[in-house]
Amino acid sequence: MTVWDDLVGQEQVSAQLDAAARDADAAVTAVAQDTPLPEASRMTHAWLFTGPPGSGRDTAARAFAAALQCVSPDRALGGAPGCGFCDGCHTTLAGTHADVEIVRTDLLSIGVKETRDLVRRAQLSPAGGRWQVIVLEDADRLTEGAGNVLLKAIEEPAPRTVWLLCAPSLEDVLPTIRSRCRHLTLRTPAVAAVADMLVRRDGIEPPAAEAAARAAQGHIERARRLATDERARARRATVLKLPLRVDDVGGCLKAAQELIDAASEDAKQVAEEVDTRETEELRTALGAAQGGRMPRGTAGVMKDLEDRQKRRRTRTQRDSLDLALIDLTAFYRDVLALQLGSRLALSTADVADTVERLARASSPEATLRRIDAIAACRAALDRNVAPLLAVEAMTLALRSG
Ligand SMILES: [Zn+2]
Repeated sequence: MTVWDDLVGQEQVSAQLDAAARDADAAVTAVAQDTPLPEASRMTHAWLFTGPPGSGRDTAARAFAAALQCVSPDRALGGAPGCGFCDGCHTTLAGTHADVEIVRTDLLSIGVKETRDLVRRAQLSPAGGRWQVIVLEDADRLTEGAGNVLLKAIEEPAPRTVWLLCAPSLEDVLPTIRSRCRHLTLRTPAVAAVADMLVRRDGIEPPAAEAAARAAQGHIERARRLATDERARARRATVLKLPLRVDDVGGCLKAAQELIDAASEDAKQVAEEVDTRETEELRTALGAAQGGRMPRGTAGVMKDLEDRQKRRRTRTQRDSLDLALIDLTAFYRDVLALQLGSRLALSTADVADTVERLARASSPEATLRRIDAIAACRAALDRNVAPLLAVEAMTLALRSG
């Protein structure tokens, strides 16, 4: 077991990160022993991880952060950093290492103030004497102003500071920032690699792991959720029944409402799990007596938290709706594949009957039109069109005939 084991189907990226971590380790050792720095280094101060959602870019960034903090004694014997067991690796992966800041936002954008705080944090010397690592999981959410604040920090980094930025694609990151980062691209992992991970890590039976991996289309977390969460499977089943229910206008509107409701349900589930605990923690931190009144002057802080939670619900709802639309797209793509006589392995094998029925009942042109309608809906949601309106327009366009 090493820190790279969690990267699924990303051999090339692991090899590059491993090489950089070795050179980073050699540099730390040289400074500590007051010997000359090695000349060529594969290490650098700013990295950008891109890859489709679910490909594991955050996992890759965290594994690299762990390797940079690895203090395994085996390194002195020629072992690679990133053992996965030592204190440095372990606390980084658990999110408690003092010199690793993991920024995972629930908000739709990251503003100037938060970024300034982060830059200030990045200037600190590492307490453990190795690296000060900042992992920014949603670099695509930086506002332009925030991007400019970050840019200055990346241009003139403190000697032991490392920035690890993650984003879906290069185009999602401000050009000035991406041009100063070393770029790593993760690919969509193969179904077999994802299934193997589910068997190995989560103890899922091979057939169920294979089905979940196929249905999730290379999205690792989604595959894990489908394999382990009954409710996630039920929601997916509901979404995939939609194509059979859009026969008339009434059915379309009803289906649209249900899709929106399912997304709200998801957001509610997350809120129930996280909000209550968060609120309670903050109340305690602010010194509220158990069940008692809040001290004077703390109302503003509580209000900030409530706003944050509300924005998180909006984002969860949006993400969940988008996942449903991705499932629907896969469904119609499989219909199209069948209509065109392809024998590819289908991601919607679990609803093969429905796929076949629709393939027989419509033409490839009609299927293409429907795939376009879903894409248009996703684009509209991206432009902040009211979700129900966008989804209704889509279900009406999915109608047969
Ligand atoms: Zn280690």
